[in-house]
Amino acid sequence: MNIAEISVGRSTTLFDALAILDVQASGILLLQNEQRVFERTITDGDIRRLLLDGVQLQDNLMGLPRIESIVVQEGITREVALALMNQHMINHLPVLDEAGCVIKVIERRDLDEQILLSTPHLGSWEREFVDQAFRTNWIAPLGPNVDAFEKELAEYVGISHAAALSSGTAAIHLALRILGVGKGDWVFCSSLTFVASANPIIYQGAQPVFIDSEPQSWNMSPIALEKAFVWAKREGKLPKAVIVVNLYGQSADMDPIMDLCQKYGVPMVEDAAESLGAKYKGKWSGTFGVMGIYSFNGNKIITTSGGGMLVSENEDLIKKARFLATQARDAAPHYEHTEIGYNYRMSNILAGVGRGQIRVLDERVEARRNVFQVYKEKLAHLPLLKWMPEPEWSRSTHWLTACTLSEDATVSSTDLIRRLAADSIEARPLWKPMHMQPIFASCPSFDHFESSVCAALFNRGICLPSGSNMSADQQERVVELISNYLTR
Ligand SMILES: *Cc1c(COP(=O)(O)O)cnc(C)c1O
Repeated sequence: MNIAEISVGRSTTLFDALAILDVQASGILLLQNEQRVFERTITDGDIRRLLLDGVQLQDNLMGLPRIESIVVQEGITREVALALMNQHMINHLPVLDEAGCVIKVIERRDLDEQILLSTPHLGSWEREFVDQAFRTNWIAPLGPNVDAFEKELAEYVGISHAAALSSGTAAIHLALRILGVGKGDWVFCSSLTFVASANPIIYQGAQPVFIDSEPQSWNMSPIALEKAFVWAKREGKLPKAVIVVNLYGQSADMDPIMDLCQKYGVPMVEDAAESLGAKYKGKWSGTFGVMGIYSFNGNKIITTSGGGMLVSENEDLIKKARFLATQARDAAPHYEHTEIGYNYRMSNILAGVGRGQIRVLDERVEARRNVFQVYKEKLAHLPLLKWMPEPEWSRSTHWLTACTLSEDATVSSTDLIRRLAADSIEARPLWKPMHMQPIFASCPSFDHFESSVCAALFNRGICLPSGSNMSADQQERVVELISNYLTR
């Protein structure tokens, strides 16, 4: 909104005022004196009332009553602005400087724009594959899109076999079930993760043992992992599996982790729900473990609205997964069951969305990496912000841009998140570590140093809006707000 073009004085005629309202479509005019000091706003309704009082179109605005318009100062949050508008049933708020002149006008429609953490970003192919499913009546679970999506994803990450499932959580659950994880077994799992990594351990009646992060990648610490193995060996009970999580689009340091798993003869399952498209030493994230899992939940780098994939070099494991995921039906003309199964397959419609999405995965990775780069560069003047490190062996997708606020900051990460929320910007803390969760309070856990690295990260960490479909203007809005807030 151009302030000069909607500003009028008491000497302006009714006719001119109406003409400006008409041309500018601004909804209001700003009445100001010769020194450009703001007096009040004028709406269509104000002019209508003057006309009804008998004022003529050629007359000026001298007859307009003096009222106190609602005005605000620079720096007001969206939350407060919106509350004021609602309270006074208005759609515009002039922002005044110290001299009482209008700097800008906040419009209600500007306040409606939310910037979310990570939203689905569709390409141009999804419709076609979904339409195909409708045209051919392949609406049931399974069908050509499922087969093709499995094949296309496996080809993308260069692995031999893949099973499309209803969620990433289902994929982790099947992996544990196939590895024979059962009642009373131990399963090692990264502590800094989303609860879906650990819940399947409980589904199987096993007990999680949580492993700390290391500061270089924020992912599983080989040092903490070794401590846990030494302990388990001493207890005479090695874990049945190790779940290694790759956070926020970045692989864990796989070599030392796999060496340890090999040394103790324990299979590793890779939770790559957040790291599809990332690489570790040139090899695709998710392809290191005996099995790897991906998620296509709505907030992930590509989505099927909900879904997951289990991948492996071992065909038997993936066949077994497909069997268990379709209620464990034995090969018989009737319904014959010798094992308990699940209903965990992906539907043919959703696989169609996935086929479209995998065609734009490269672009999505580039876009997310770019979002991270822009934050890092534009906020480089704030040494209080430390960005999630990317070790030289890692090519992160930066699925989410993550950072921490240094200890010397006068505000906490919670303060910053709250301030962003007041301007309709969604930022989140890092995952709250599993060993700090009430449901897992009694589980053993092993730290990288004397104290927990992931607990410290959680206390100071923030994930910023990182969608591949976030516009440059939107990102600028986030950058400006953070910059202003931290340099107050
Ligand atoms: C999203 C996510 C999952 C679960 O995937 P769903 O498809 O939502 O079941 C598992 N682990 C991690 C680390 C995740 O971020």
